[in-house]
Amino acid sequence: MRKIIVQKFGGTSVADTDKIKNVAKVVIREKQNGNDVVVVVSAMGHTTDHLVKMAKMLSPNPSSREMDMLLSTGECVSIALLTMAIQAEGYDAISFNAMQVGIMTENIHSKARIVDIKTEKLRKNLEAGKIIVVAGFQGVTEDGEITTLGRGGSDTSAVALAAALGAERCDIYTDVEGVYTTDPRIVPNASKLAEVSYEEMLELAHAGANVLHPRSVETAKQFSVPLRVRSSFKLEDMGTLILGVDKMELYRPVAGVAADLSQARIVVCDVPDKPGIAAGLFTALAEENISVDMIIQSYARKVSNTNDIAFTVDSNDLPKTLATLDKLKDTLGASDVKVDAEIAKVSIVGAGMIDRPGIASTMFETLAKLGVNIRMISTSEIKISCLVDKTDAQKSLKALHTVFNLESDVVADVKGDLPDV
Ligand code: ADP
Ligand code: ASP
Ligand code: MG
Repeated sequence: MRKIIVQKFGGTSVADTDKIKNVAKVVIREKQNGNDVVVVVSAMGHTTDHLVKMAKMLSPNPSSREMDMLLSTGECVSIALLTMAIQAEGYDAISFNAMQVGIMTENIHSKARIVDIKTEKLRKNLEAGKIIVVAGFQGVTEDGEITTLGRGGSDTSAVALAAALGAERCDIYTDVEGVYTTDPRIVPNASKLAEVSYEEMLELAHAGANVLHPRSVETAKQFSVPLRVRSSFKLEDMGTLILGVDKMELYRPVAGVAADLSQARIVVCDVPDKPGIAAGLFTALAEENISVDMIIQSYARKVSNTNDIAFTVDSNDLPKTLATLDKLKDTLGASDVKVDAEIAKVSIVGAGMIDRPGIASTMFETLAKLGVNIRMISTSEIKISCLVDKTDAQKSLKALHTVFNLESDVVADVKGDLPDV
């Protein structure tokens, strides 16, 4: 049986017609290898950003249904253009939007999750020898409503298609040569990781390494889809492979560092210290489909018998969060709600930090030496995140990258001994 390879090309890879011609060549090369090819594309260049900007010029708070109607058009342009470019090279190709394929999602606008993908049409067209080009980022509900998966969601479309089709691999083609120890555009001596585990990549993606949409990594892990991140422009470079258990990186406590600048912090002040307050607050947010990231509840003040609950959300969800809190004000009995959008989350990630003392203290000491104030801390088994002022994010990232020996020359030298951190 022929193998199926899913390839995904991001916005920069299809930014103009020359780049689309380049993508057509990459696709055809895979077809010439004897594989069946399903291609997922994003909107061209900054199309999605431009569409968002136009919407905001017409309405301060456009409805999420109409936003999805608008934003889904970007991907429809690129699938048709790429298919034409492939056909012009003499290959049989056909484009489909999410509705035509049947990329079924839940009935939630702007960050819908995929619940099912119909594969009949895809298989029929692959059997007919066609290269298939599918619109990323979009989906359709049972009622025929158009949805989108959230910014950067084409990665998730590609991995979900690979899982549904039982593909051999999902290749994410982008504008960097793979997954690096941190964003190579911020820290130029970041080093490329040859391999990284699903777990580490998931934490890095959640921590702000936007080279992959977090849900794409989640889906790849769940369905064991081998995932590769590689460059559209340097085909000789094999990029980074994301797969099961990672042995290679375990000698290093920290595999990568990341910053997320799109968070906002909210503090709900002086809520009563009694059962049900946190439940009421976070249930109301969940009902509005707002994801909460870090949460801290302060130690109860004895005299007033109250405490503060601080948490972070994606800044895009801030207006909705504040509106929800406003409705809850009386029930919660909070004295005040404070908001800070000028913050960033800086994280270190590595499976090698499990059971290895001293990693957190090294992180905190490094930030202290820079004079950076830590506003919140959260940890998982393989991640430590600190909330800092936005203006401190870049220098924190660079210093942490250095202190954990992640620079390209250091990483290239490490053979198996533990670096001294
Ligand atoms: P695409 O349009 O192909 O989806 P994105 O802009 O979404 O591309 O993702 C690629 C970008 O991710 C890179 O240009 C880089 O600046 C950024 N990035 C952030 N963290 C990392 C990382 N750890 N490794 C590689 N790239 C990263
Ligand atoms: N075009 C969408 C965005 O810019 C989806 C994607 O690129 O993955 O967010
Ligand atoms: Mg992307």
